[in-house]
Amino acid sequence: ATPTAVMVGTGVGASQGVLIKGGQALENAHKVSCVVFDKTGTLTMGKPVVVNTKLLTNMVLREFYELVAAAEVNSEHPLAKAIVEYAKKLRDEETPTWAEAQNFVSIAGHGVKATVRNKEIIVGNKALLAEHNVAVPVDAEDILAEAEGMAQTGILVSVNREVVGVLAVSDPLKPGAQEVISILKSMKIRSIMVTGDNWGTANSIAREVGIETVIAEAKPEQKAEQVKDFQASGYTVAMVGDGINDSPALVAADVGMAIGAGTDIAIEAADIVLMKSNLEDVITAIDLSRKTFSRIR
Ligand code: ADP
Ligand code: MG
Repeated sequence: ATPTAVMVGTGVGASQGVLIKGGQALENAHKVSCVVFDKTGTLTMGKPVVVNTKLLTNMVLREFYELVAAAEVNSEHPLAKAIVEYAKKLRDEETPTWAEAQNFVSIAGHGVKATVRNKEIIVGNKALLAEHNVAVPVDAEDILAEAEGMAQTGILVSVNREVVGVLAVSDPLKPGAQEVISILKSMKIRSIMVTGDNWGTANSIAREVGIETVIAEAKPEQKAEQVKDFQASGYTVAMVGDGINDSPALVAADVGMAIGAGTDIAIEAADIVLMKSNLEDVITAIDLSRKTFSRIR
């Protein structure tokens, strides 16, 4: 392709909300043979809602959510936002404030930990609780499995290292997600899902969207490793993601594509930004590159 053709291609992309950061990105996109998708906020809406809560002790719902929200209000994670939103609804005040959290830590891909009213609160997945030597009772395991079977994410809450409840969050697929995967298949492009979420939820969502290959419980570095593994087996890999946790994988990919509504760090790490946050634009970008770089077949 001539420099002019590349300029035209980049311009057409921009007019359609597909921001291509350079000629190399536009060129690489026509060779893509495998697209690795993040789940939360990429394949799914990224606007999860709390759909269920099961309490395991005599703590009441409102007190439970006061503690959880006080910890989660410090997190930027979409799951944290869903939890805080839900907790707000349990209150009467218009603009609620939460108890001050001390020692707040956010553990990427796992959850959060903080001290609230002198109690240690841990909110997150099984791995996070295991790291803190918190035993997960059988009831809680059952509730988690049930949520995961329905493609929901189950989140455990422990207070002073005792599991006091499980909440279930649902994050539906973006409209048209199935269609995008099936179009990619017809283009002979393989789709993979890589997520930090647990295997149960990941498999349920993958089945729904039509993706056969799933890697779950992946930390940010492991997402990047997966991209490199596919490259090593001969694929030209595009990675599509929205989160801080996707940025190493976005950098590792031959073409990193960030969801426009995603975090700044992901947008910076990517080669292409899908400004409209539509999954169809993964195909727009590949098509544009094919038109620019390959002869019409
Ligand atoms: P994804 O890769 O699907 O975008 P993440 O890697 O961000 O997901 O998170 C993986 C898992 O870690 C979540 O499904 C959840 O179980 C847990 N988690 C992460 N952040 C939080 C949080 N702020 N509160 C509770 N759980 C969290
Ligand atoms: Mg995400």
